[in-house]
Amino acid sequence: MKSTPLPSSRTGSQVRASVLREILQRRDGQMTRQLLLHPGKHGLGMTHESLAADTTTTMVCGYCSTGCGLRIHLRDGEAVGLTPETNYPVNMGMACPKGWEALRVLESPDRATTPLIRRADGELHPATWEESLTRFTHEFKKIQQAYGNESVAVLSTGQIATEEMALLGALTKFGMGIKHLDSNTRQCMATAATAYKQSFGFDAPPYTYDDFEQSDCIVFIGANPCIAHPIMWERLLRNPNHPEVIVLDPRRTETAMAATQHLPLKPKSDLVLLYAITSEIISQGYVDYSFVQQHTNHFDELVRHVAHFTPESVAETSGISPDVIRHVAKTIGSARAASLWWTMGINQSYEGTRAAQAIINIALITGNIGRPGTGANSITGQCNAMGSRLWGNATNLFGHHQFESEDDRRKIADLFGIEPARIPTEPSWPYDRIIEGIRSGEVRGLWVIATNPSHSWIDHQETRELLGKLDFLVVQDMYTSTETARQAHMVLPAAGWGEKEGTLINSERRYSVLKRLRRAPGQALADFQIFRAIAEYWGLGEMFSSWDSPEAVFRIMQQASRGQFCDITGIDGYGQLDRCGGIQWPWSEADAQAASGCDPQQQRRLFSDGYFPTSNGRANLMVDSPTRVPEPACADYPFVLLTGRGTVSQWHTQTRTSKSAVLNKLYPSEAYIEIHPQDAMDLGIQHNEHVLVQSRRGSMTARACLTPTVSRGQVFLPMHYDTVNRLTLSHFDPHSRQPSYKDCAVRVERATRTHSRSK
Ligand code: SF4
Repeated sequence: MKSTPLPSSRTGSQVRASVLREILQRRDGQMTRQLLLHPGKHGLGMTHESLAADTTTTMVCGYCSTGCGLRIHLRDGEAVGLTPETNYPVNMGMACPKGWEALRVLESPDRATTPLIRRADGELHPATWEESLTRFTHEFKKIQQAYGNESVAVLSTGQIATEEMALLGALTKFGMGIKHLDSNTRQCMATAATAYKQSFGFDAPPYTYDDFEQSDCIVFIGANPCIAHPIMWERLLRNPNHPEVIVLDPRRTETAMAATQHLPLKPKSDLVLLYAITSEIISQGYVDYSFVQQHTNHFDELVRHVAHFTPESVAETSGISPDVIRHVAKTIGSARAASLWWTMGINQSYEGTRAAQAIINIALITGNIGRPGTGANSITGQCNAMGSRLWGNATNLFGHHQFESEDDRRKIADLFGIEPARIPTEPSWPYDRIIEGIRSGEVRGLWVIATNPSHSWIDHQETRELLGKLDFLVVQDMYTSTETARQAHMVLPAAGWGEKEGTLINSERRYSVLKRLRRAPGQALADFQIFRAIAEYWGLGEMFSSWDSPEAVFRIMQQASRGQFCDITGIDGYGQLDRCGGIQWPWSEADAQAASGCDPQQQRRLFSDGYFPTSNGRANLMVDSPTRVPEPACADYPFVLLTGRGTVSQWHTQTRTSKSAVLNKLYPSEAYIEIHPQDAMDLGIQHNEHVLVQSRRGSMTARACLTPTVSRGQVFLPMHYDTVNRLTLSHFDPHSRQPSYKDCAVRVERATRTHSRSK
């Protein structure tokens, strides 16, 4: 790392104050400079004078992993409106309601505008940055000195810029001595990342969105893109091949209704059903033996394993008839180009990693990988879950290196100019272990960044109690009103999308640029600037002196990626990302040289050469024995509770979407539960009536929505309401440690007036 010696004539506090002043000045002055440097293809050639006039520029949406391009309309250099970008290679002029409302949610009375500190009266009060950063450093250092470095942990997010994740990961793990940092992507993408790593040798979603338009058979497993990823669904509708669309989902979702085949499997029977489909693909002769022999390991083991899962033997467990299983196997096996896509129905499961690998197995043995319209394709959730997976420094060392590898630690240490001993030799505790650490007293200080565990973590009543026991809880967020911020000892006000710079990586591995087109309110700072200021106050200013802008960090990331499967050394900075509508990784210097100065193609997929970055260059076919549902429905709790996305207008804990009057009109403000009309009739429940939903852990009230889209014996709750995770059972996939949100047992009954009032 480049280091600038501190002037010896100034005290530490003078230096910190001056750095903070510089950061605050940059916050106020950076926007115009950034625009001049990166005006976007619709603003190219813009001069300083022209900023005064109305103009437009393009940047990536900051909600979901689709990564749509939005054209931002500017007045006097400030964003005043937006429209979907027609030339962007992701969305081609389309956007969902969340994207359309992206600017509106920045204006809200509960925006965090100044640091807050909880005082002796028990209330949060405004404070200066100087006082807050001094206190932050003092409290966390005091805890580390008393209980060891591991007693302070971090819960981060998939919602901030890649460069911010990289800086946070380096700052905490190589500087502050914090060993345990995990992200809320543990709740959505850990399973996919683990499955890919074990099967492909690298966490590498292989596809590009063009595959939606190229397949002649598209299979969605535990995915509802019509509402969760609507622009991807729109891409599918552009497919000229009239593809077969097969949906495996217990519910008759919006996507299932539009499919050509819907398999309403029983909850958590996905693994046995996928093994039966695999068994049928093999016995019906649809294996691509040439591909299997050249490019995979363990095929014989796979054949032996799935032979136990005949269509007849899984029919009762899965609820799917043998004829339907055979037909699906034939449809996939006989397709010219089949693509298989999954999201949370697979990932959020106690055996999700093996289920994801069962999908990967099908793609591999049928040769549906590396060709247009193919792939075993995990769709990501958050706008930068992919950035977190590569650069968060949690389960992987910076840029998908391994903490356990001495060579990798030395490579990263050399790059940063630090002693290898500063780098931990093992990955972070996962999220659930950090929560367990709070329970056991091993973790006493917690820094939560742009996430809301008091709402979103599984079985959250206990989580809320545990957070209340911490010696020091800091929440860094755009809003002061989240359930977690309300419990904090300190709130640090963060800038949001449109108020800061950096890059996001979308589901198809595309780096796209964020721009600063509005001023953050009050004293709020970009997360990047907050991390820089904390580095100074912690005494690490010298160590991070060259990490002085997001683009400088992007350059460091490029060097760290050299020689990795995710190599991005060929990208010529933010300007090229902006000009190209984003660039998918990998794009190495060798790729750039081979392209002779041309920009990368806009739609690129992985594994077209049949090489997988495993020890022998072949993909691993992975199988395992299915396990039992931990909490099956029973006489006392006769329903299986499914949770998931409610509408296209809601996002996770609704921290942002609830701020838009338009979005608020598009979904019920009160929690609702979907229940089959016959089950409701048996319980004497009328449509729209309040019901009490109880699990072994807690209860909530909701309005009954009678609908045959859920099967009998099942109920569905949208995850966005803050009472839902009172019910869920704390259990996890053993490989990915991802929570299993979709399979606990509940009972439902008519609510009394007292229940309805107490919610
Ligand atoms: Fe933004 Fe996702 Fe909607 Fe596209 S689909 S506009 S990225 S929220």
